[in-house]
Formats: sequence, C-alpha cells, structure tokens
Amino acid sequence: MTLPPVEDLQRRAVELFELWRVRDTAVDVAYNRRLRTCAGRAFVENGLIELNPHVLEGAPEEVDGVLVHEAAHVAAWRLFGNAAEAHGRHWRALMRLAGAPPDVTHDLPIPSRPSGTVGARHRSRRRFSYLRFCEACGDRQLLAAVRYGRCHGCSRRDSYLVLRAPASAAGRAALERITLEDARARCADIMGRV
Ligand SMILES: [Zn+2]
Ligand SMILES: [Zn+2]
Repeated sequence: MTLPPVEDLQRRAVELFELWRVRDTAVDVAYNRRLRTCAGRAFVENGLIELNPHVLEGAPEEVDGVLVHEAAHVAAWRLFGNAAEAHGRHWRALMRLAGAPPDVTHDLPIPSRPSGTVGARHRSRRRFSYLRFCEACGDRQLLAAVRYGRCHGCSRRDSYLVLRAPASAAGRAALERITLEDARARCADIMGRV
C-alpha cells in the first residue's frame, strides 16, 4: 500500500496551522523507517513530524489522524509552550477544532469482526472501549466512554493517556494486556520538550 507523498502531508500540516492560528507555519514531515512502536512523533521545537511507515502501511486510513495528532503537538508548543500538557486540554482543543477525536491518545489496531456476525447490529452504539491511564499516579481504568475529570488516585487533571480499541472481546482483551509502560512507549511521541 502506497502512502501519500510527504509534500501532501506538509501542505495539510500548514493548513492545520492556519486553522489553529499558529503564526509560524514552517513544518517538515518525513517518514522514518526506524520508528518502532509509535505511529508518529513530533519534534516540537524543530517543527519536525515523523511518521512510521511500517505501522501506517497496514492502516493507510489512519495517516491523516496521526498527522493531525502530531501537528497538534507542534501547534500546542508554538501557541502555549510548556503550559500545554502533552495530551491535555490545549492539545485536545486543537484536535477538536480540526474535527479529530479529541479524547483519544492512540488507537490500538484490532482486526474487526466480519460484518453479518451476531452483534454487528450493536456495534454502532458502543463502537469503542477505552483504557485510561493517569500518567501522574498510574491509575488504570477500562471505560466505555472517556472522562477527563479528576483522577481518583491523585486528583490531578489532564495527565491521561487514553488508548482506544474496538468494543469487541478482542479489543478489550488487547486493552487489558497493555501496561502503563506499553502505553508510555506507544504515546511517547513528543520529542525535544523542555
Ligand atoms: Zn492520578
Ligand atoms: Zn501524542
């Protein structure tokens, strides 16, 4: 499966910066074959976004979502600096403005059930399950919908990592296997942050 050329992705990133009213729209987008678990990462101070071709060749429909995710990190840095928590409310507001799901840090790709099987009818009602970690204290919640209130463990806000998978038995099982370390490895996508 061929991935879009970086020139197209770069143009898209500039459009996003304009939408977000980021004055400095300089950005580089590159594919990096050395990336392992993360789908993409952002060097916020250098304005560089790297995408993982290994992951995205298997899921080309996710390229735009990953690009928006990483571009929002660069934009949050340019607009708010260190005041923006990694996947906190500033970043989520930018995601929402771009029409992207604001509540999810990363998707866990799970092969979906063939349509026509029992339960397919219900899929549209509860399509996803969510695993939410508090990065501050490690509190772990498997949820049917994401909530961003205060953490029950440490009462902090805005320090959640949220992984999403289809609300199937396979999806929930995959989420149950994820540890905080796994989640951190998948979501450690902001480089060069002070
Ligand atoms: Zn906590
Ligand atoms: Zn991120």
